[in-house]
Amino acid sequence: MNEKLKKALDECKSAVFFGGAGVSTESGIPDFRSVDGLYNQKYKYPPETILSHTFFMRNTKEFYDFYREKMICTYAKPNRAHIALAELEKAGKLKAIVTQNIDGLHQAAGSKVVYELHGSVHRNYCMKCHKFYGLEAITESKGIPECTCGGIIKPDVVLYEEGLDEDTIENAVTAIATCDLLIIGGTSLNVYPAAGFLRYFRGNKIVLINKSETSFDSKADIIIRDPIGQAFADES
Ligand code: NAD
Repeated sequence: MNEKLKKALDECKSAVFFGGAGVSTESGIPDFRSVDGLYNQKYKYPPETILSHTFFMRNTKEFYDFYREKMICTYAKPNRAHIALAELEKAGKLKAIVTQNIDGLHQAAGSKVVYELHGSVHRNYCMKCHKFYGLEAITESKGIPECTCGGIIKPDVVLYEEGLDEDTIENAVTAIATCDLLIIGGTSLNVYPAAGFLRYFRGNKIVLINKSETSFDSKADIIIRDPIGQAFADES
């Protein structure tokens, strides 16, 4: 593990991790804003448009074509960062993960307390009868996935123009407000309201692990520019 990160963890009583798409790039899932991220690939519409509530309602089939191809990565496995964070939770150091990711890789690595601000590809529900479905309802269907009642199955992910779940916000904010070490990683901090939750931190130290600059760099005590898997890697 990066020495500065290890020292900060050794010195703290309770840590919280706040992360984004950059946590999963080493698992093979593209983020949005890196050079090879989805914003730099060319589509008929920008990703923010396709992943919006209005687009989902008006162009449901096109939404699902993009969503199946770009947002679901069934092959992806947790990387060294996901695994190290799960181990830190088991050791009693890490109290919670607050993530903007929807890929479920923290839970796949064994983390238990994960607040998914933007939902999860693994949860899906019928817009008519509210029956719940797993990921296979999307991956094993073609076109617009349909419930047995005839309703449209919608992913439980927060699309642009949609609000975040109130309980998840409360849990995330409480976790951030009550830890003494905040580790921020793999996020450009461009997506609100998620990025705004960082202002509730009242603890001692902020470690920021991100390949590129963020608007929060000036508030961080320690900045690490290594790939996040490397920063967390156990070299013993
Ligand atoms: P972002 O794409 O805006 O920013 C990712 C940041 O991570 C960039 O600043 C990049 O420099 C950095 N980064 C990339 N790989 C890294 C690595 N290996 N180590 C360290 N830093 C690395 O992502 P965001 O801030 O999370 O915002 C994008 C939104 O898109 C979020 O709301 C998220 O829900 C969603 N999203 C999720 C996934 C996923 O679930 N895996 C994937 C793409 C987008």
